[in-house]
Amino acid sequence: MKRWNGWGDDNTDYPLSELAEEYLANLFKAKDLPSDAAIEDVIQSVPDSPFGNNDFINVEPEQRLRHALGQSLPDWINLRSGRIPRLPDGVIFPTSTDEILATLEFAKTSQSHLIPYGGGTSVVGHINPPKSDKPVLTLDLHQFDKLVDFDEKNLLATFEAGITGPQIETELNALGYTLGHFPQSFEYSTLGGWVATRSSGQQSYYYGRIEDLFRGGQLLTYKGELNIPPFPASAAGTDLKQLILGSEGRIGILSEVTVTIKPLPEFEEFYAFFFKKWESGMLAVRQIVQNDIQVSMVRLSDAQETETTLILSGKRNLLRWAGFGLDVLGYRKNRCLLILGITGRRTRTSQALEAASQICKIQGGLYAGKYIGTSWKKSRFRTPYLRNSLWEKGYALDTLETAAPWSKIQQIKDETINAIEDVNHQKGDAILVFGHLSHVYPTGASIYITYIFKRSPDPDENLERWRDMKEAASKAIIISGGTISHHHGVGRDHSRYMDEEKGLVGVDLISNITQYFDPDGILNPGALIGPKFENENENHVNIQK
Ligand SMILES: Cc1cc2nc3c(=O)[nH]c(=O)nc-3n(C[C@H](O)[C@H](O)[C@H](O)COP(=O)(O)OP(=O)(O)OC[C@H]3O[C@@H](n4cnc5c(N)ncnc54)[C@H](O)[C@@H]3O)c2cc1C
Repeated sequence: MKRWNGWGDDNTDYPLSELAEEYLANLFKAKDLPSDAAIEDVIQSVPDSPFGNNDFINVEPEQRLRHALGQSLPDWINLRSGRIPRLPDGVIFPTSTDEILATLEFAKTSQSHLIPYGGGTSVVGHINPPKSDKPVLTLDLHQFDKLVDFDEKNLLATFEAGITGPQIETELNALGYTLGHFPQSFEYSTLGGWVATRSSGQQSYYYGRIEDLFRGGQLLTYKGELNIPPFPASAAGTDLKQLILGSEGRIGILSEVTVTIKPLPEFEEFYAFFFKKWESGMLAVRQIVQNDIQVSMVRLSDAQETETTLILSGKRNLLRWAGFGLDVLGYRKNRCLLILGITGRRTRTSQALEAASQICKIQGGLYAGKYIGTSWKKSRFRTPYLRNSLWEKGYALDTLETAAPWSKIQQIKDETINAIEDVNHQKGDAILVFGHLSHVYPTGASIYITYIFKRSPDPDENLERWRDMKEAASKAIIISGGTISHHHGVGRDHSRYMDEEKGLVGVDLISNITQYFDPDGILNPGALIGPKFENENENHVNIQK
């Protein structure tokens, strides 16, 4: 069963190795930790629902609890301490379009809010019930998970929107195809969630981001059905798919999604290279992309991430392999690991590997074979389980991400890391921060930052520390010219930065679109565009550039 207060299945663990424990214990001072709240106790504290339990609405406290929060760090802090700010008053599990339409109608007549819910893997507060006097219903689409149409001739497949990553790949792989969308949350996140948050999979350079894969579908709204046919391209005015992408449950329920698919690749391998300096690795990566070399993934870790992830993997073999000969060659200190994915038809992949290797070599990259890349691939969906083990040993982990043009990447990475470190150093707290570059484009790349700290026994202290770091990092990102999110989306945690990102006209336009589709403000209020508070400071963040 899915963990109620952490990541993944109860029966899957990724324990911290002795080596990792030792490494972290050396960095952080031990603090006493209270044990986590027990689900039975939290269930006891769930308030009554205004709705009665029936075939249509599930008001069981456990179901409501399991749909109350997502996967962000503040969500974890609240879940683990048993303090749930607001629960949905009922959960609805539709199995047909008619049931979704009936739910929309019920939410309207009962004057409730309605939150569309895919896998609940949001890390920015997308699915958390808003502060409101009105009842809140959550619409969990996990039973809406069928392959509706497979169109081999046109390389298209249509699915119900609640289908998860593994279910999609099982269906398509059996027919010799793949969608190729592999976010790290693949195990639980859903097709509808990916579209609604503009998700990006790890091999997006080869397969495309979700906006490239999303070809059409059906959105059920208060204005009626919006059906978008899968034209290969169209000049008929505004592309309505763009209204749905990133709509974060504010304009309707995505019931069906048509995606473009690819035949299963003939060849796929992940290779490792070490660079003596991050700057050389970054230059190699930029040249690979700008020379249109057909790689499927690049992931360049900075020196701190290289060291930490090798240690956290707990695999002595991996460390031995990664350390082999490196001292002698001078790659040990500050070495940065590049994992390079090559995917596709054999004829093209061998050329791609040769061309990419040549560029890496010119920039001083040391080829380290396939072992590290193969290990990365094997554990890529298991790595999130480490977060559970870290928490249990007293450590909190959070991530944030952005994207920017190549000319700004270095500054944005440095400034964001400095901002997070400064918040902690001012208070005399230790923090471990590191980053990697991935999701590359000819014009720029995304930067992904991870930070780990020893949590306090006091959940309020942890929340405050998270808030300070999040705000400092978000401001640094905006000031240095990055987007507030490359793929996690806006949710409730980033909505205060939308004025800066989109400008007042842009925000007004998005608000008008949500109002057009949902004039009564029923659908997921607070996500994407925040509520308007009386205190102006709460509406947006004051940023002096
Ligand atoms: C460990 C971990 C790793 C992650 N890695 C990645 C990654 O590599 N790439 C990436 O892009 N993201 C990643 N994420 C973030 C998250 O998985 C994505 O945002 C994902 O797209 C959310 O999908 P979901 O089905 O869980 O949606 P939910 O979290 O359930 O919902 C997200 C939003 O979409 C809306 N929504 C969901 N379904 C529908 C629907 N059918 N109709 C209308 N609106 C809908 C919801 O209302 C909500 O606003 C990660 C998260 C975690 C916890």
